[in-house]
Amino acid sequence: MPPSCWQHRRHLPSLHLLFRDAANSMAKEKSLLDEMRQIQLAIELIELGARLQVLETETNISRGRLIRLYKEIHGASPPKGMLPFSTDWFVTWLPNIHSSLFYNFYRAIREQSGLERMPAIVKSYKMYLEQISLLEDSTPVLGLTRAWTLVRFFENDMMQMSTCTRCNGHFVAHAHSLDHNYVCGICNPPSRAGKTRRAAERARRKAAGDTMHKAVASESVSRLN
Ligand SMILES: [Zn+2]
Repeated sequence: MPPSCWQHRRHLPSLHLLFRDAANSMAKEKSLLDEMRQIQLAIELIELGARLQVLETETNISRGRLIRLYKEIHGASPPKGMLPFSTDWFVTWLPNIHSSLFYNFYRAIREQSGLERMPAIVKSYKMYLEQISLLEDSTPVLGLTRAWTLVRFFENDMMQMSTCTRCNGHFVAHAHSLDHNYVCGICNPPSRAGKTRRAAERARRKAAGDTMHKAVASESVSRLN
């Protein structure tokens, strides 16, 4: 004799529970993995010099835990203060060259490797540091927080890439700039202090400019492949 309906039904709740438990534990595992990834990202960003606001925006980790993480890594409290919010810094001479170098890497990585934006920011920022370390004056002008801000400016259509009519390199510019005659800051460096600058200084700058030029020019980005 087949079991009656109520006997079947009696088993249903326990089966439901079983499925619910399985789903719960899978969700927990997923959230654990997600949490680990977020912490890993936070550590990388902190090591690269990210400000607390970047971490708060890009991870779900609480402010308290982020501060603890920051202190453990740097042995000091995170600096306070506002994030840079102006697009103007990115179009001044030297920052523009550095920012353009970073953004060329970022754009190529997004297009060619399909990495998500945050891992792509980390990777392209590391590539930027690597390029700068090859220069004689190997001081990075672009901080990670600024690099991240630049990406956000592009995402909000506040910046564009303009192509230099002399070297064909791509450079960061204000959105809606008229750029059909655009000449970049490496091809056309500012003449300020030109008379007083010593020859050695000029040569040093030129060498740095040449390296930068090669790096910013679009073909150098193809080495990503
Ligand atoms: Zn140029």
